[in-house]
Parts: sequence; structure tokens; C-alpha cells
Amino acid sequence: MTPKIPFIDLAAQQERIRPQIDAAIAKVLAHGRYILGPEVGEFEKKLADFVGVRHAIGCASGTDALLLPMLADGIGAGDVVFVPAFTFVAAAEVSAVLGATPFFVDVNEHDFNLSVDSLKQAISDVRKAGLTPRAMVPVDLYGQMADYPAIQAIADENNLMIIEDAAQSFGATLQGIPAGAFGNVAGTSFFPAKPLGCYGDGGAIFTNDDSLAEKILSARVHGQGKGKYRYDDLGLNGRLDTLQAAILIEKLAIFPEEVEARQRVADRYTQALKDIVIVPEVLPGRTSVWAQYTIRVNDRDNLAKEMAERGIPTAIHYPIALSQQPAYANYPVVSTGLETSDRLARHVLSLPMHPYLSEEHQDQVITTLHDIIKAH
Ligand SMILES: *Cc1c(COP(=O)(O)O)cnc(C)c1O
Repeated sequence: MTPKIPFIDLAAQQERIRPQIDAAIAKVLAHGRYILGPEVGEFEKKLADFVGVRHAIGCASGTDALLLPMLADGIGAGDVVFVPAFTFVAAAEVSAVLGATPFFVDVNEHDFNLSVDSLKQAISDVRKAGLTPRAMVPVDLYGQMADYPAIQAIADENNLMIIEDAAQSFGATLQGIPAGAFGNVAGTSFFPAKPLGCYGDGGAIFTNDDSLAEKILSARVHGQGKGKYRYDDLGLNGRLDTLQAAILIEKLAIFPEEVEARQRVADRYTQALKDIVIVPEVLPGRTSVWAQYTIRVNDRDNLAKEMAERGIPTAIHYPIALSQQPAYANYPVVSTGLETSDRLARHVLSLPMHPYLSEEHQDQVITTLHDIIKAH
């Protein structure tokens, strides 16, 4: 029996850069500045350069990377925030936690991201209901960015704030512009399984808006004003640990190579699978970081079960549209419905994907999928 293939293999990367990681951790243990130590600033500078924005602000998680900008901008009761129904829960969650109303919008079949037509309808629905459209969180699902040129035009017309959820797309580009550089502000996550992950929770916020950056920096430390224990605004404890920043500096150094390696895995999968399942498509002008390689199949649950029986792990991102979740069932949805979101939730299946996935393991995934589908 061949060894089991991991869905995501963090050990292979660790083995590659273990000496650098050990040295980085030892340095932090030696200086002892665990909270906002020098590595946080150094990492933020590298991040800002990577994304090409004026401000990169480390924070405690990808969730806080969405919450802090909303809090800093005063989003709350009476405000409507448009979020895709087919995504991870964070964008809807932080809107609701702040007392705003998450409003669910449908997504596109071809790139899994916010549908511009559905968004236009949603804005019109909200205005008819006498509510205030305030912001939107386009999510860059699976590593490919949303249609920002079109989204930005709608935001400008309707005076909407854009918070780009780049948790899965850090390292991707659209028309040559890096993920994290779109909208008023963007947030990403360094959860261990993300394309750039740390060894715990972490995240970052990107913006070119000096005044918003200043408010976010304050919100990250309890809304602290001029001087310690003086609070001008509401805030929380949303800092990135020095240890995580030190680890991320080492991981960022090899990240561009890892993005290329992910693309090679994706290309091989696509070549070998395009005739038997619906493979993911990267639209012209975009690159993906392949946070997930997600196929669409009809008999998804059985296929996942048969793959598992043959030692191939798969995952479902995401099995239920947010609008169908008990916690969000009472929030409004676009009047034209969420047909694509509901359908994708039934058909998507993510395959093992990481930069160190060997060709042998890729072939095992490919052959197993061919065998199962042929047998049906
Ligand atoms: C992972 C993720 C988040 C949240 O990141 P955390 O660091 O786990 O808080 C937000 N949005 C999307 C799309 C994600 O995939």
C-alpha cells in the first residue's frame, strides 16, 4: 500500500527552510519583544513592497483583517454589507458582529466569485427597501481574484467601500496588479493552510488610504489614541505576534517559487482531468495562487467517499451556501436568488494541492479519479 497523500503538506516546506525558521525563532527568543517586536515592522515593510501599497498592517487573523477595517471605518447598525453567499464565513460574520447587515449576493459559475449582475440587483433591492448600501466584500475564492475593474465601477457609482478578501489570493494578480491592492482596503490570512501561512493565526491588512491606515493601527491596539491607556475609538486586541512575523519573513522569501510550483501542479491536473470533470478556469488577465484546486462533478459526495476509500483526501469548500446556514438564515438575499451558489455547494470538490505535491502523488490523484469515473 502506498503512503497516504496529505491534502496539504506543511512538513515538506518546513523541512526545506527549517534552519532559517529555527534561527528566526531563536532571534525573537533572544530579544524577547513578543508583542509588536521589530520583526512585525520588518515583515509589514516586505508585505507592502510585495503588494505595492503604502500600508501593510499585520494583524491577528484573516478574520480580524476584515473586522478591523470595518470597525475603523465605523461600519455598523443600519449599514448593508454585500457578501457572496458562496465563500468562507468570515466576511458575513464580521459584518453581523458589528451590527451591520450582511446581504447575500450570488457568484459566477466560471470563477466562483461575486457576480456583478447579482451585485447590481442587490444594490437596487437595498435602495428599494430604504436601507443604506455601505460596503462590499468581494472574495478572491480559491486563489483567483474577483472582477475588480467592474466591481470598482459599481462601487464608485454607489459610493460603496470595497474590502477585498484576499485570504486565498495573496500572491495572485489581475492585469499585473497584486491581490491586496484593490478596493479601499484588503485583508489576507496567514492561517497555516493558506498559500502563505504561519505557525498559528495571523493576517494582514493592505491600504493606500493614510487616514484609514491610522485608524486601523489604533483599532488593532484597543483604539489607543495619543499615549498609553488613552482611547479615542473602539478597538480590540488584533495584533500579529512577533514570532509569527519572524516565521513569515522566512516563508515570504520562498513564496514566489512556491506560487510557481502550485501553478505547475494545477497545469498537470488540468491537462489530465479536463476531459472527465469540470476543471477550474483562470480567466484572461488573471493569475491564481491555487489556494484550492477545485473541480465540479455531479455525484460529488459519492466521488469524495470513493476517493477517501482509495487513500486520496479531498475537501469541500464549501458544502452549504452561507444564506442556508442557521446563523445567517435571517439575513437578506438578492431578489434574483442564489441559484449558482447553491448549485456550486453541491458540486465542488477540492483535490490535494500544495507546492511540494510530487508528480507521483499527482498521478495517483489523477489515476484514481479516472478509475472511479470510468467505473460509473
Ligand atoms: C481563511 C479565510 C478567512 C479567515 O482567515 P482566518 O485567518 O482563519 O481568520 C477569511 N476569508 C476567506 C475567504 C478565507 O479563506
